[in-house]
Amino acid sequence: MRNLGVNSRLKPFGATIFAEMTALAVKHGAVNLGQGAPDFDGPEFLKESAIKAIRDGRGQYARMTGLPELTKAITDRFARTSGLACDPERDVVVTCGATEAILDCMLGLLEPGDEVVLFEPFYDSYVASVAMAGGVAKVVTLEAPHFRIDEAALRAAITPKTRVMLVNSPHNPSGHILDDDERATVVRIANEFDLVVISDEVYEELWYETKHRTLATEPGMRERTIVLGSLGKSFSLTGWKVGWAIAPAPLAQAVRAAHQFASFCAPTPLQAAAATALSAPDSYFEEFRAEYRARRDLMVRGLRACGFTCEVPQGSYFALADHSAYGFDDDFAFCRHLVEHGKVAAIPPGAFYHNKSKAKTLARFAFCKKLETITAALDRLSEYRERYGSRG
Ligand code: PMP
Ligand code: GLN
Repeated sequence: MRNLGVNSRLKPFGATIFAEMTALAVKHGAVNLGQGAPDFDGPEFLKESAIKAIRDGRGQYARMTGLPELTKAITDRFARTSGLACDPERDVVVTCGATEAILDCMLGLLEPGDEVVLFEPFYDSYVASVAMAGGVAKVVTLEAPHFRIDEAALRAAITPKTRVMLVNSPHNPSGHILDDDERATVVRIANEFDLVVISDEVYEELWYETKHRTLATEPGMRERTIVLGSLGKSFSLTGWKVGWAIAPAPLAQAVRAAHQFASFCAPTPLQAAAATALSAPDSYFEEFRAEYRARRDLMVRGLRACGFTCEVPQGSYFALADHSAYGFDDDFAFCRHLVEHGKVAAIPPGAFYHNKSKAKTLARFAFCKKLETITAALDRLSEYRERYGSRG
């Protein structure tokens, strides 16, 4: 009998940690600070806009590259935030979430055996997407607690087969935003080795003190950079799965070459609503950030009060905490114990590492939650600390 199971490219990845931890959260009745999904709804004007699109009969396939009003809204907003002018007809591909865009980039760009530089910890789909496209991931470690790019470590990962470098800022799971030195390093290496840079900027609106700036504005980067965005993050609608890639024509064409066969198009009514969303006034984004800043501050203060060591994330909606005070050997053991006995779900960041031992003392808490959810989780963590906190 032939092998009916998962193929060898995907077998090593098993089940994604997000499905596993969400299932455990449900099983144990835990407050779920695992998967990065808000427990509140996106803005009313956006829901109304999607409902209107459905009522107006916009129920058929969209243009493959994205609805014209959406690709225009994407380039308009990008021009406002970055100062870069792009052609909405040529330089944008709308995808089913940024997750599809990442896969499309790999499928559209890589020849078998081409190498892709990834920085760990990374969103878990990166490495699976490289594998699905027949590429080879070369992993550079960002060392805790600051998760900065080290130029020597990056140089050591480059070979004549390196084709792509994938950079993520604001960063999941650390919340780090690339500083000027790191940006200069990325630019130097990309230009020196003629790399394509995939710049995952899905948390572009989730910065707190230092404003996010796209990498595409740096010298020599425009023509080699694919910028990824996601409606789900900036409008708290992760389940809508509307994402996009912005790139100069030849790179956009590579992404599109895969996208046309991967999904062909993202759902039409949601694209129509996304166009409305991106035309929101600056005040929407300011308020959005202020709400998230309050969530972040509550989360970090609470984690510290419960004995965790935790840097203040500069962006994204994750707090990466050190759980050494609880005396567990590794992050999976800690997170499994916490979800069962503390009734709080977090993500063991080993899922984001090749070198899993680097994550042993860490746990990721998502704070894209109502303040009362965060408070409830912190109450439970504080009880958990009383029962188990003296093990460390
Ligand atoms: N990149 C990063 C860094 C992410 O954290 C995520 C999802 N949380 C994505 C991409 C995928 O975004 P989407 O939900 O739009 O597929
Ligand atoms: N990227 C989200 C996170 O880091 C989850 C996405 C997913 O569930 N695939 O939590």
